[in-house]
Amino acid sequence: MGRPLHIAGCSFGKDSLAAILLAKEHGEPLDEAVYCEVMFDRDISGEVPEHRDFIYSTAIPALERMGVKVVVLRSEQTYVGLFTGRVTRGKRKGMVRSFPLCGKCAVQRDCKVKPLERYKETLPPGTVRYIGIASDEQDRLLRLDGAQKISLLEKYDYTEQDARSLCEKAGLLSPIYEFSDRGGCWFCPNAKRRELRHLYDHHPDLWAHMLELQAIPGKATEKFNRTQTFADIDRLFREEDGQIPKAA
Ligand code: SF4
Repeated sequence: MGRPLHIAGCSFGKDSLAAILLAKEHGEPLDEAVYCEVMFDRDISGEVPEHRDFIYSTAIPALERMGVKVVVLRSEQTYVGLFTGRVTRGKRKGMVRSFPLCGKCAVQRDCKVKPLERYKETLPPGTVRYIGIASDEQDRLLRLDGAQKISLLEKYDYTEQDARSLCEKAGLLSPIYEFSDRGGCWFCPNAKRRELRHLYDHHPDLWAHMLELQAIPGKATEKFNRTQTFADIDRLFREEDGQIPKAA
């Protein structure tokens, strides 16, 4: 019997890319990297555009040059598809589903976890998965269940900062870290103010799509995140820029 298949989950963030770089550096077995791209709608990626450009123009070609095959997965479902669907149960039945909930994101469930789970089912039993969790993320490391999931960052004692430096040295640090400390969709309800401000300043077309969604009537919730509507955030930024007077 040959050795089991070894795959690396990859978001093209610093930790998952560093794990792949470590695998290559130390001659660890690695058959492929698996990436799941969340989509806003059929045509627009859910990745922050700078990160998406990095993935397709820099990172995938670099991995392929290193001999790492990259598998790209996408769900049939999209953010807009979920947003515009109808609630089927409970007191909001019939309303437009609208914004995903912080901490219980339907996009994560349907656009990310499902395609990855489906892909996993096609892999032979005993497949080993490399997970990009750093040696200083003890809580997450403790949740790795068993021998088929391995953190190479833990094995080679790489902290998050070490992972960042390794990617930087290899010319494989996503530009997303210039304005965010996390990856994630540009429409994420957990996005910090700085990330939203980046979207507002640099991607007005995407911003406009969110305002269009906010304007749809009959939504189950008006709130984009725990406290604000997207229109609230838009108004705040326009106030900051002096485009409209500050509310009293
Ligand atoms: S990054 Fe945010 S919006 Fe995207 S799947 Fe994760 S929780 Fe949901």
